[in-house]
Amino acid sequence: MGTAREGIASMRPATQAVHGGEKIDISPAVPTVAPIHLSTSFVFESTDDLERAFDDPTTGYAYARFGNPTVRALEQAVATVEGCEAAIAYPSGMAAINGVFLQYAKPGSHVVISRDVYGATLTLMDTQFRDLGVTPHYVNPTNIDEIGRIADEHKPTLIYAETISNPLIKVADVRALAGIAERSGAALVIDNTFASPMISRPTELGAHLVLHSTTKYLAGHGDVMGGVVAGPKATIDAMRTTARFNGSVPGPMDAYLTLRGLKTLHLRMREHSRNARKVAEWLRNDDRIKTVNYPSADDGFADQFLSDDRGGMLSFEVEGFGQAEVFRFLESVRIIEPATTLGDVSSLALYPARTSQRGFTTEQKQEWGISDSLIRLSVGIEDADDIINDIDQALSSAAG
Ligand code: PLP
Repeated sequence: MGTAREGIASMRPATQAVHGGEKIDISPAVPTVAPIHLSTSFVFESTDDLERAFDDPTTGYAYARFGNPTVRALEQAVATVEGCEAAIAYPSGMAAINGVFLQYAKPGSHVVISRDVYGATLTLMDTQFRDLGVTPHYVNPTNIDEIGRIADEHKPTLIYAETISNPLIKVADVRALAGIAERSGAALVIDNTFASPMISRPTELGAHLVLHSTTKYLAGHGDVMGGVVAGPKATIDAMRTTARFNGSVPGPMDAYLTLRGLKTLHLRMREHSRNARKVAEWLRNDDRIKTVNYPSADDGFADQFLSDDRGGMLSFEVEGFGQAEVFRFLESVRIIEPATTLGDVSSLALYPARTSQRGFTTEQKQEWGISDSLIRLSVGIEDADDIINDIDQALSSAAG
């Protein structure tokens, strides 16, 4: 291996500038925090080792598109917290979803997909994958009988749902979906973004793969984008091969920030859940509010969750509100950010009809229960009473 350190003192300044300080060896010291490996390529003692690196789908440290140690550290950490054999990280949640669809939604195949999922997930399936010859069947994620009937009839390759759905906060019966998937030969893939592995672990309930937009709770601080899919090593290795050639790989800085966020996920999810329960209770007792969507501890899915915590996502409809009033509400909040994301430490409000589900027709939104008065709240880890006071004053300002 060309270690430039040897003899560098006798070389010319230009060579010293280029090669000085390279390949610094810190052994036997080992850093306690995963280092950020920015190198786009790696060198080996022997070319045989390079050959092996090219062929190894798990490490592949020949070139950073094939494998990066910081990204691998994140993948290992997520695989561990999701109770899975392996994981693959992507540059965004949508890239992760695209990776799943590329794996299962082949030309001529049928997929069963919950219609109550992130809007872009539906759009991706309904445009690019439909164009490739895939037939999607959109279902109500809580109507297990309907899903079973469609799966029996069409033998889908993929059944896709969210643990806690966006934006109506419906809980999917993952065990029942896993039973249908097994019976019909489909892979059950669950987007666990709203719940996080601190609230629910879908593969322990029978899902083949679990995915996240790590942009949300896993990273948690609103400063990095990413996605991840976890599951059996054989499937993850196959997806990695596709991602290598699609160039769908995250950068090491982003992987590092996500890893750092993950370290406090359990603490944050406890606070998010505690605050959201309190906000949901307050909303349920306020007579300006028509409906509140937030799972309760006795929602019938107790064995599907790791504790009584149900996360920080809720949505609600306000009596008499339409778009104008919701817009005024979003302009009136002071602590809550009217931002188009979720899962940050700060509270965030969003108007699904004009953001996450904006691509759908009025009829579709009506049929699927996305009304003009629906507001989605990602409850942060600020003091719950301050969040409640902020909602209270913003409701009054919007109505007045
Ligand atoms: N899954 C869910 C449940 C989401 O809410 C989102 C984005 O809001 C995504 C996936 C897509 O993630 P990203 O924005 O990181 O691509």
